[in-house]
Amino acid sequence: MRKKIVAGNWKMNLDYNEGVSLFSEIVNMVKDERKGDQLAIICAPFIHLNSLAKLGGNDVKIGAQNIHDKENGAYTGEVSAKMVKSVGVEYVILGHSERRQYQAESDELLAAKTKMALANDLKPIFCIGETLDERNNGSYYEVLKKQLINGIFSLTEEDFRKVVIAYEPVWAIGTGLTASPDQAQDIHAFIRSEIEANYGFNVADDTTILYGGSCNPGNAASLFAQKDIDGGLIGGASLKSRDFTDIIKALN
Ligand code: PGA
Repeated sequence: MRKKIVAGNWKMNLDYNEGVSLFSEIVNMVKDERKGDQLAIICAPFIHLNSLAKLGGNDVKIGAQNIHDKENGAYTGEVSAKMVKSVGVEYVILGHSERRQYQAESDELLAAKTKMALANDLKPIFCIGETLDERNNGSYYEVLKKQLINGIFSLTEEDFRKVVIAYEPVWAIGTGLTASPDQAQDIHAFIRSEIEANYGFNVADDTTILYGGSCNPGNAASLFAQKDIDGGLIGGASLKSRDFTDIIKALN
């Protein structure tokens, strides 16, 4: 069964006290709004994770925003999958366009991070998306397919079933521009058909595919109403408890 998920990506926002306080508000609000088969996740900066994992209970799961691709060792300043897992984190965002761009994370590195996450029992929220140029020059299907093949399509079926995919058109992230419900549905259906070609119908049908990019309380319901859109990865609007909760309410 496909899970419906709304995941917040706080990015590099909120100091420790602000994070704990926003998270406590979110937990209280989500408790009343979330239906049984729906999942709320907050992906927070590393220093928040330990505390949030203890506050979330069953209502809000915790995700990290990155891990290192190596198990441990002389990598000053880095944080491993095992460390993240050890404080109660269950998810990790990988392949976000900001890290692909600013940290030059390649498909190959992301494939290694994905394997490291899964080996440590963390579920990847694996992001793919095209830039505005790639949208305009029509190469976006190819770009997305390549990100899927290089990043996650070499996983075993058992591992692939633990992955959540997020389609985040780069031109829609933090810009206020959103893919229209039809544009997003078109890509989600394409992603699902690529999964089907690799892993078969049942796996494709069970895979949660989130939309991300300027998703907000005003547009969430029309996006989530599309048959292949199973929820959202929310940046800016996850920094306000009311907006984040309203987006969860928009899950059908
Ligand atoms: P946004 O970010 O909702 O602020 O556009 C989404 C994301 O980057 O995950």
